Amino acid sequence: MAPAAHRGEAPVQGRRSPKIDAHAHMLERTAAEAGISHSVVTGFGARPLPPAAPGSAQEMAERAGYDPAAHVDMLDRLGLDAELVSSMTVMQGTSWAPPEVEHELNVRINDEIARWVTRHPTRMVGSFTLPLQSHERSLRELARCTDELGMTVVQLPAAVSGTYLSAPEYRWLWEAIAERRLTAFVHPDGTRDPWFQRYSMWNSVGQPIEEAKFIASLIYEGILEQLRALKIIIAHGGGYLPHYFGRLDRNVRAHPHSAVNISRRPSEYLRELHYDTCLYEPAMLEALVARVGADRLVMGSDYPVGESDPVGFVSRCSSLTPADVERIVGGTLAGLLGLEAVSEGLGVTAISP
Ligand SMILES: [Zn+2]
Repeated sequence: MAPAAHRGEAPVQGRRSPKIDAHAHMLERTAAEAGISHSVVTGFGARPLPPAAPGSAQEMAERAGYDPAAHVDMLDRLGLDAELVSSMTVMQGTSWAPPEVEHELNVRINDEIARWVTRHPTRMVGSFTLPLQSHERSLRELARCTDELGMTVVQLPAAVSGTYLSAPEYRWLWEAIAERRLTAFVHPDGTRDPWFQRYSMWNSVGQPIEEAKFIASLIYEGILEQLRALKIIIAHGGGYLPHYFGRLDRNVRAHPHSAVNISRRPSEYLRELHYDTCLYEPAMLEALVARVGADRLVMGSDYPVGESDPVGFVSRCSSLTPADVERIVGGTLAGLLGLEAVSEGLGVTAISP
């Protein structure tokens, strides 16, 4: 299928800019079956999933989640070159398991993603998850996924058992990510606070709160201050924090001790992160562009349960120039990951060093 023409498409250094979905999920059978009764979607086992209704998000997740061909069909349908495929951790998170089981489940998920990428090497870019209860196991799996599976993107939750990953206990993780020049994709696996279970608010309200807590902690703990090379993409447009920065900066004036780890105003660090465009409401995308800049955004659909027209959602944003659209739809992510469009048809390939 020939690539569809969209506004903003123009050759970059002799090649067109690729279109890449930064946010697309998969399931691995063993991990999903083991994890579902511990997951936020079932109220941590209190409310088993009913049989999926046709056309529902659950049915889409259960069908396309296991099927790489469905992902490629979606990419073809939307004229996208590739997707960054990540674990659907709201259904198959692993932090509930004992450390050795968690490790095994992460290996299974990562190996399955590697198989998807092997099957569709120009259409999929793999990411890997880590058994984060254990420092030693995490570093071992991180080394395996990068050195043996050739992956360059690590998927992280916002928190593990209530400890946000920006906390000092996880400094080793950020140092390893920076040292290996990996890109981190941060996607919460769901708050454990039972209040959010009513009305599925864990999804509507809880995910953006988890993202806000993660980013705030990342700023205040000084991780962005000290590890300048970090490349971090926050899912769901970064949640609430980019839109409520006045109070961050006011807090430094009112409580100077809060800035002990940072040299600039907290809000200034927001532009050091990247955010996906999985926002569903055009006015929110406009606001995020105004706040952090078009150059910090990457297109993300949350396939198979999210935005069905991710390119159109970005293209219709009136404050974006055609060049902005091109970057958001894939150019910026390609730059982060060292990718370029293949010369014929749809797909991406690593830029040769
Ligand atoms: Zn998602």
